[in-house]
Amino acid sequence: MKLLVVEDEIKLAEYLRKGLTEEGFVVDVAHNGVDGLHLAMEFDYELIVLDGMLPGIDGLSLLAALRQTKQTPVLMLTARVRVEDRVRGLQSGADDYLVKPFAFSELLARIQVLLRRAQPAREVGNTTVLGLADLEIDLMRRRAVRAGRRLELTAQEFSLLALFLRRQGEVLSRTEIAEQVWDMNFDSATNVIDVAVRRLRNKIDGPFERTLLHTVRGMGYVLELREQ
Ligand code: CA
Repeated sequence: MKLLVVEDEIKLAEYLRKGLTEEGFVVDVAHNGVDGLHLAMEFDYELIVLDGMLPGIDGLSLLAALRQTKQTPVLMLTARVRVEDRVRGLQSGADDYLVKPFAFSELLARIQVLLRRAQPAREVGNTTVLGLADLEIDLMRRRAVRAGRRLELTAQEFSLLALFLRRQGEVLSRTEIAEQVWDMNFDSATNVIDVAVRRLRNKIDGPFERTLLHTVRGMGYVLELREQ
C-alpha cells in the first residue's frame, strides 16, 4: 500500500518514511507543498500524511486543491493546538488531525483507522486482493496497481497476473500457464505464452526499478521478490 508523506522537517519526514516502511507501506516523501500536490494529483495513494505548515503551498491550500478532484484520505499534522485551527482543517477536507509532537504508534493507529474506513474490502480474511511488494490486484474490481499507479491490462493479462500472484514464488511451466489461462495444450501455445508474458512484464515491471516477473531458463516463469 502506497502512502505519501508531505513534511518539510527533513528529520521528521525521514523518521516517518522509515517507520511506515517498516510497517510494510511503500512511502513517497515530499518536502514542500508544490511537490506534495504534484505527487498527490499524479498518483493514487491510499492515504496522505500532510503537514499543515509547508513552504510553497501550505497544507490547507494543498488539501483544498486536492479535494477538487480526489478523495484520498488525508491525515493532517499540525503544531497548532487551537480548536479553531483543527476545525478549519477538518472543514477543508482533512479526515483526521494529529497535533505535534505525537507518538509514532498513535500516527500508525490513526492511519490504520482511516485506511479501514476508506477500504472496507481490505479487512482481514478478504481474499479479493492479491499482492506482492508494491504490486496489487483487486479481483473483484478487476483493478491492478503498482506503486500507486494503475496498470492498464487486458482481460487475459489480468488473468495471467492473477495466476502468478496466487502461485507467487512457484515456477510455472508454459504448459501449466497455457492450461490455466488459455485452456490450450502446450504444443500450440508455447509462443503465445512467451509473447503474453513479455507484454505483461512490460506493463508490470517495465516502468519500475524492481523486476518481479522472472524467466527461469528451460522451465518457465516465476513471480517473486528477489534480492537485488
Ligand atoms: Ca512544517
